[in-house]
Amino acid sequence: MRDLIVGTAGHVDHGKTALVKALTGIDTDRLKEEKERGITIDLGFAFLNLPDGRRVGVVDVPGHERFVKNMVAGAGGIHLVILVIAADEGVMPQTREHLAICSLLGIRKGIVVLTKVDLVDEAWLKLVEEDVKDFLRGTFLEGAPVIYFSALDGRGLTDLLAALSRVADEVDEIDVSGIFRLPVDRVFTIRGFGTVVTGTTLSGRLTVGDEVSILPKGIVAKVRGIEVYKKQVTEARAGQRTAVNLQGVERDLIERGDVLTHRGELASTKRLDVVFQYLSGMGSKLKNRTLARLHVGTSEIMARIILIGRDELAPGQSSYAQLLLEEPAVVMAQDRFVLRSYSPITTIGGGVILDPEGRQVKRLHSETEAQFATLATGEERKRIKVILERAHIAGITEKQLLVRTGIPKARLLTLLSSLSSSGEAYCLEGEERRYFAGTLYTALRQRVVDIVGNYHRNHPLKEGIKKEELRGIVGQRGEARLFQRVLFDLEREGRIHLEQDFVRLPEHRVTLGGDLGHLREKLLDLYRESGLAPPTIKEVFGHFENQRKEVESVITVLQKEGLLVKVSSELFYHFNIIEKLKADYEELLRKKGRVGPGDFRELTGLSRKFIIPLMEYFDTTKLTIRAGEYRLLRSPGNTKDDK
Ligand code: GDP
Ligand code: MG
Repeated sequence: MRDLIVGTAGHVDHGKTALVKALTGIDTDRLKEEKERGITIDLGFAFLNLPDGRRVGVVDVPGHERFVKNMVAGAGGIHLVILVIAADEGVMPQTREHLAICSLLGIRKGIVVLTKVDLVDEAWLKLVEEDVKDFLRGTFLEGAPVIYFSALDGRGLTDLLAALSRVADEVDEIDVSGIFRLPVDRVFTIRGFGTVVTGTTLSGRLTVGDEVSILPKGIVAKVRGIEVYKKQVTEARAGQRTAVNLQGVERDLIERGDVLTHRGELASTKRLDVVFQYLSGMGSKLKNRTLARLHVGTSEIMARIILIGRDELAPGQSSYAQLLLEEPAVVMAQDRFVLRSYSPITTIGGGVILDPEGRQVKRLHSETEAQFATLATGEERKRIKVILERAHIAGITEKQLLVRTGIPKARLLTLLSSLSSSGEAYCLEGEERRYFAGTLYTALRQRVVDIVGNYHRNHPLKEGIKKEELRGIVGQRGEARLFQRVLFDLEREGRIHLEQDFVRLPEHRVTLGGDLGHLREKLLDLYRESGLAPPTIKEVFGHFENQRKEVESVITVLQKEGLLVKVSSELFYHFNIIEKLKADYEELLRKKGRVGPGDFRELTGLSRKFIIPLMEYFDTTKLTIRAGEYRLLRSPGNTKDDK
């Protein structure tokens, strides 16, 4: 059974509440003040069953100019509007404003009811009807059924019900598979039950026992019970007026404008990319950075309008814009919104959210405008691609894509797999799949290969670049797994080689030809000839002036080849020299049992500058262990730990 929400619209006193009562038997003016003043102040709720058994939730809105704010909150969830126009008064200011609001909110279906027909004669009625039809020309209600109605004598009620059934059939199927969202319009407590919130379920489903978040506050609560049209149910779904009994949250913490959703599905945001339509009939041009009241869902938030690609907007024109919010909103792409001026308050326009997570942009750049244009008019594939590009190196999850594209889940997943197989998107498998722009992945691969190649050119004597260093140069601040994945993919394709911590190109070989070959020989000679008292590394650099980098590289290679041995940060020894010393030292240790610095000096004839690092070197290479100022041979008999 399809559920549906119908809303009233129209000028104050034109008979909306009376019509709802005739239709449903419910008096929606529930507040004491409303009863006393005979005027609707806040939203009223009722429901009825259509002849075919379908259930319709009815939202009755206030018509008075001062309460348009409440009207917008109520109109946010409706699928079909009943525009009420009193036959004796005809089109009035809030008839126009409400119709504009419904249009901006994307409502596409409706019925026009001329009420109070008992007050006028036939000829007048015809005139009013003509007038109304003129007024509706070019709006979504052009061609909609027009019903003559009187709450006084019940005239037209049957026609109205028939029209409702007919138009209800034309309303698009409501998606119940999406993210559960319920913008709160009322909060109250019921003795013995606790906190209850009500609202229109915009999308998805909610089940008793579910854990919910109340956003943007981030309060978590549990669903104790659900009521739909005065009946306890176990599940509520999109298109139903829903009352939710919450466990674990105080009534005072929730207010109209908050959004009930499943935990972790939605986030709040303060920068929205939108397409904005400035209503014709506005007196003056809209300037960049104008402050206005954003109405979205049931919330009202102050926002600054940043015009993209222009400095002002003439009445009747549309523009891409960014809305900078003073308080966080909880919205999705494709949501509709209304903007009302700061003061005096009137409806100035509205539009569609293109990306709920806008970033700072250069508002006059043509590229910025082009991206907005793709989001606004592009097909779904292109829109996904823009969001992937925007997510850049951090990538984006399916959940986030749902929110930032507004594309229903099943279709989104199909599109993502198609984009992945064509290389337009890159999917990183894992606990939670993450998607990247295909262009980003390709560029990243090329960048890695380029950086490694460059590194080889600058460091021909190094076998490769360290992974971490490479990652630093790539500028990978985002998803670490993507970097690993790129390396993995490149290696599998044979474009790079990974050796432990090093990355190199497959064709790269460390060779010491030419000048470097000569340098290698000279260094080896130097270390061989200097024997037990080699020059420090600084002295070596001094010896080969202006070749510091080359010397460093060659020494690294010689170390790798095992021809030079690093004894301290300052001292290198030729392998043969250190081997000879080791043999002599070992023999001395055997002979004496323990060897002090003095004995070592006798053995080598060296000064302290060499003795200390050498003795420590033999400790670290585990020939000896230390015992006070002496060294013992580290044999099975001497197992004392030296650390
Ligand atoms: P709303 O502000 O649009 O909700 O208007 P109400 O439903 O509160 O009606 C405003 C006034 O018009 C009330 O005094 C109603 O009794 C009266 N009214 C509503 N419908 C009719 C009607 O069909 N015929 C006549 N004669 N009076 C009506
Ligand atoms: Mg009313």
